Amino acid sequence: MSPRTPVVAPPRLLDQTPAAAARLLAGWAAEHGLPAYRGRQMFRRLWQAPIAAWSDATELPRPLRLELDSAFPLPRLAAEAEQLSADGTRKYLWRLADGEAIESVLIPSGSRRTLCISSQAGCALGCAFCATGRMGFGRNLTPFEIAGQVREIVLRHPDDLPSNVVFMGMGEPLLNWPAVDVALTTLNSPDGFGIGARHITVSTVGILPGLEAFARRPEQFRLAISLHAPTSPQRRGLMPVEKKYDLDAVLRAAAAFRKRVTFEYVMIAGVNDADADADRLAHLARRLSALVNILPLHPGGAPDLTPTPPDRIRAFAARLRNQGIEATVRRSRGLDIDAACGQLRVETERRKGGKTEGGAQLRSG
Ligand code: SAH
Ligand code: SF4
Repeated sequence: MSPRTPVVAPPRLLDQTPAAAARLLAGWAAEHGLPAYRGRQMFRRLWQAPIAAWSDATELPRPLRLELDSAFPLPRLAAEAEQLSADGTRKYLWRLADGEAIESVLIPSGSRRTLCISSQAGCALGCAFCATGRMGFGRNLTPFEIAGQVREIVLRHPDDLPSNVVFMGMGEPLLNWPAVDVALTTLNSPDGFGIGARHITVSTVGILPGLEAFARRPEQFRLAISLHAPTSPQRRGLMPVEKKYDLDAVLRAAAAFRKRVTFEYVMIAGVNDADADADRLAHLARRLSALVNILPLHPGGAPDLTPTPPDRIRAFAARLRNQGIEATVRRSRGLDIDAACGQLRVETERRKGGKTEGGAQLRSG
């Protein structure tokens, strides 16, 4: 082994697909006169049996571990805050190398562990009801920063590998397609985390070029469309993106998708929760054989928007079901810990500013 000074930045293994990372490691092992099995041992440590640092890969000789530290540094997401809700929901705020902050939420339910991950720091789309939308756009996440949210969970609790992953944290995944594309491969590949494609859901407002790219993936990834209103004028009032990609165009793109689609529908009092809205929504859902996922409104968006009361939500769901639509009302999880999109970051930054104290338990990671 000859120690070499890199002339360019070392390749970031965790930003590659597993196949590309395996090639890099195999090439590096061969260049350094190492047997091929060493390349495979190193590769296992990326996603299959992840380590926090090469020094933890005790199956490798110490000099090799030291060399790997400079050849292929393993970046981490720094846990700035971790909150545990009474219902078992766990929320993480990750601080990124450049100071941006993103969130993930781990939601246990029976034998399932669903991890909700972020694809961007902030979001440019400014939906009225959304805390992330209100903070504006920071930047796109890299593939490592997306799939790394799963990696960090496994590093902390090796038994916590999520059974399901949903892109329902901060950001619009289809406005960061190149990185989301790689991250989907890492999450799904048996050489990565090996999470079944049917257990990975991309949620989007309906960015048409991104939808086309996503539809070209051969795996059975799931698609959730954030609909939130059954007519274009109503939707325009909540979601500025409607001016660019309107409801009709989004529905046509979703209809061309070969997989079953879910509509996400946030219930907002007096805005989209009337019987007539349910009837129009039922009509759209029938057209696409879509499931409808009804979400109670979490606080954090525009202050003038108030949640639809629970009995009205139940009546709305029943009206959809009476028209043959499969509708589920999502249980509000982790309400005691700000567990809706963007809320932990808003809350943590508010506390840092020293404006309030108390509330949910917050501990530094
Ligand atoms: N940008 C993508 C994915 C992230 S948002 C999208 O909009 O689909 C994930 C889901 O959380 C979306 O369905 C979004 O509408 C929902 N959401 C955002 N703010 C919410 C709130 N205050 N209460 C309930 N759901 C919310
Ligand atoms: Fe962005 Fe989704 Fe929030 Fe809209 S709901 S602002 S698209 S993260």
